[in-house]
Amino acid sequence: MARYGMVIDTRKCVGCTDCVVACKTENQVPEGLNRDWITDDATGSFPTLHLEIRTERCNHCDNPPCVACCPTGASHVDPFGAIVLVTPEMCIGCKACLASCPYDARFVHPDGYADKCTFCIHRVKDGLDPACVSVCPTHCMTFGDLDDPNSEVNRQFASRPHHALMPAAGTEPRIFYLT
Ligand code: SF4
Ligand code: SF4
Ligand code: SF4
Repeated sequence: MARYGMVIDTRKCVGCTDCVVACKTENQVPEGLNRDWITDDATGSFPTLHLEIRTERCNHCDNPPCVACCPTGASHVDPFGAIVLVTPEMCIGCKACLASCPYDARFVHPDGYADKCTFCIHRVKDGLDPACVSVCPTHCMTFGDLDDPNSEVNRQFASRPHHALMPAAGTEPRIFYLT
């Protein structure tokens, strides 16, 4: 079974938001809500300031608290690629998963269920990249099977130092940022 993840080259991201627009269009994300977003992270102090521009979304964590806390089983790890998903029909809108996610990756859809990035599982099942990956003009995102040692995502992973978001939270995110 695959274990899908992303490696994102922060030196190539120009913050154009094409990935955000593509996601909203592909997944018909309601107005005012987002499944992915851009973060500007400035660290250090003059004259050694560093600015990292990142595209962020659900990290499809290996140890997802949003799944552990869900009382109905609506939040689950799908057998296809270990992608973390929500079954809308099983969701009672209790928001426990929203509170448990350290990345603020979830929101309540106007129809009453918890929603978030799905890694565009419908596209991936057809052999396509997620919409955000497919439109990025700088090709800074690589999507693939982290368990396949020959995958491009693993080649990128090994190519440079990288970090994941909030490792101390213990969620074991599967999105990595090349620094
Ligand atoms: Fe960055 Fe690519 Fe998204 Fe543009 S489309 S903001 S370059 S990740
Ligand atoms: Fe769950 Fe948040 Fe991790 Fe996504 S990023 S799997 S919503 S804890
Ligand atoms: Fe589960 Fe829905 Fe409650 Fe989230 S809001 S914990 S998916 S029942």
